Amino acid sequence: MRLFFMSPKEYAGHVVTNLVEIRRLGESKKTENLNFRRYVTAHHHPVDRLQVLAEEIQQQVDCTVCANCCRYSIVTVNPSEIENIALYLRMEPEEVTRQYTAPDPDARTTRVLRSTKDGCIFLDGNLCAIYEARPKTCRDFPYVAHGKRSLGGRVSSWCRWASLCPIIYNALESYKRLIGYRSPIQTPEDVANGSVQ
Ligand code: SF4
Ligand code: SF4
Repeated sequence: MRLFFMSPKEYAGHVVTNLVEIRRLGESKKTENLNFRRYVTAHHHPVDRLQVLAEEIQQQVDCTVCANCCRYSIVTVNPSEIENIALYLRMEPEEVTRQYTAPDPDARTTRVLRSTKDGCIFLDGNLCAIYEARPKTCRDFPYVAHGKRSLGGRVSSWCRWASLCPIIYNALESYKRLIGYRSPIQTPEDVANGSVQ
């Protein structure tokens, strides 16, 4: 079965990677994205097309020049993930727990990685100091190819990240193009591009 009339690369279009631009554009589309979330929840569009597009975009974004997810996420860790980190760092799990984690305010069985003013405690510049042993939450973000969440559920969480994550911002915008979504809200960019009805 064919999913696209054009190739995913063509739908992806020009991928914006500049983080200042992403923040500006993502902020300017906040209300539009909330409306879009309502729209996809109310209409049936297959989630696999969004995944294919997002995977295409993911290949064009270099996460090592961004690391925003490591700066702005709260990462939960379960006991087996703490053991993995301990093994990787050649430490005792109790020591990793004490030094690098804090109680999870939302759950009793998990903890969260500690944060510094620059983000996750394991963030070293733009790189992860425990990359091979990073928790599942970090491996899966931005949940492009993983999980069985519905399109509405996915877009809902992506709306929160559109001004921080270039993969998510570009995936949302290219998906809107793909399904022919026209926002009733005009941003300066829409007016300049003539893309408003
Ligand atoms: S925020 Fe998005 S683009 Fe940036 S490092 Fe994380 S996944 Fe990659
Ligand atoms: S553990 Fe690594 S990948 Fe996960 S948030 Fe921290 S620095 Fe980022």
